[in-house]
Amino acid sequence: IEPIHIVGGGMAGSEAAWQAANLGVPVILHEMRGVKGTHAHKTDHLAELVCSNSFRSDDHEGNAVGVLHEEMRRLNGLIITTAADHQVPAGSALAVDRDGFSAAITKKLESHPNITIVREEVETIPPEDWSSVIIATGPLTSEALAHAIGELTGEEDLAFFDAIAPIVQLDSVDMTKAWRQSRYDKPGPHGDTAAYINCPMDEDQYNAFIDALLAGDKTEFKDWEKDTPYFEGCLPIEVMAERGRETLRYGPMKPIGLTNAHQPDVKAHAVVQLRQDNALGTLWNMVGFQTKLKYGAQTEIFRMIPGLENAVFSRLGGIHRNTFINSPKLIDNQLRLKKMPRLRFAGQVTGVEGYVESASMGLLAGRFAAAERLGKDLTPPPPTTALGALLTHITGGHLEAGGTFQPMNVNFGLFPPAENVPNKDENGKRIRGKEKGRARKRVMAQRALADIKAWKAATEAETV
Ligand code: FAD
Repeated sequence: IEPIHIVGGGMAGSEAAWQAANLGVPVILHEMRGVKGTHAHKTDHLAELVCSNSFRSDDHEGNAVGVLHEEMRRLNGLIITTAADHQVPAGSALAVDRDGFSAAITKKLESHPNITIVREEVETIPPEDWSSVIIATGPLTSEALAHAIGELTGEEDLAFFDAIAPIVQLDSVDMTKAWRQSRYDKPGPHGDTAAYINCPMDEDQYNAFIDALLAGDKTEFKDWEKDTPYFEGCLPIEVMAERGRETLRYGPMKPIGLTNAHQPDVKAHAVVQLRQDNALGTLWNMVGFQTKLKYGAQTEIFRMIPGLENAVFSRLGGIHRNTFINSPKLIDNQLRLKKMPRLRFAGQVTGVEGYVESASMGLLAGRFAAAERLGKDLTPPPPTTALGALLTHITGGHLEAGGTFQPMNVNFGLFPPAENVPNKDENGKRIRGKEKGRARKRVMAQRALADIKAWKAATEAETV
């Protein structure tokens, strides 16, 4: 069997390689790190996490990303199963030790008999004798390749800004001011109710902090970047602060569900949360604190946070331009470029947003490409599944081709409406308000998992 060439060994490319190789198809994975870096990656490992170490909620009964996790688990997803092996406490979220995680992915792919890894930058549209290609070069696609893709598709390139949050060393956090607790003491999968470190602020401290954020020195955009929007799900904190003095208090700094262990009677006006970032528990991520403040301003302003007065930062925040293609117009429901079907696209470059979403499109691209190599036709998963809902979003199911297309995290709004949502609970009491929303999500989640099971059974019978 001729190999599938995969360009980019990030979240999507690694997953695609694993899926195709496990179906018995040889894969050549071309990854430039090792020869050439990006502005955000720090190592040569495959599937390196560039910012947060979290795959978000693992709740597959009421959260769309949790449903996507579960679907990927059932399809032997590399990213999601390896994440479980390198999990660190994070309440109901699935977070990992980033180094252990990406080192394990690298090892699994390097030792797979059907996978060859080549460390090189692919600078042009691959030659015709690469008869099946998956381009999974991500938001930081190298300039040469991004230019070549732009020329081939004839599209003005699309982009938005994505930001990174800082990481703090635990031994520099003042635990006489901060305390450990998960919001509402919600237990994680191992029963831990104290997954986060919390730093409290009173009203004066909060106001001084907001003033400092507004006045702080920020990275300026270049002229050609000025019209580039932010990704709404990952706004820099200073941009949130500009939207209103209370915005952060209702966002990443909300004080609800937490009790100050040092002063249980004093209600915090705002709280900054830190989430464990490595297995040793020595590094902690500032939750929701992505920023484009200059480095000097970051250290100065973040040390205003009670408990972080002497914080040592092992990484500071930053901002990166994030490139994606106009997928609804350019690619079909098998992730093939309509104009040149030997090329598939996967990952963030297709306009999904997030580690899990990117990996999930890698999972589908790997399976689609392998099926094609094996002379089979793989039906895409139905839109009632999280995988199918995302695929439908990026391939234009809900859009006029060429309309406004914005990168998207998976969410229940992408799923077809739920039918048969119960009106009453098990005690016969009428379900209203928020409870009704929860019941609707539960129905959608159950439907998704039943439908992915059926899709798996039908398509694996076709491909294997
Ligand atoms: P990547 O994981 O970036 O993988 C692409 C790979 O392609 C890289 O290894 C790169 O080296 C390689 N490559 C690029 N060009 C070439 C070439 N020409 N030849 C060979 N190899 C090449 N998502 C979250 O869920 N949480 C976050 O906190 C988060 N923070 C982010 C912060 C920033 C600054 C950015 C830019 C994105 C962030 N994302 C985050 C979004 C996104 O989900 C991740 O970037 C994710 O890694 C995308 O997966 P991917 O496989 O598409 O790309």
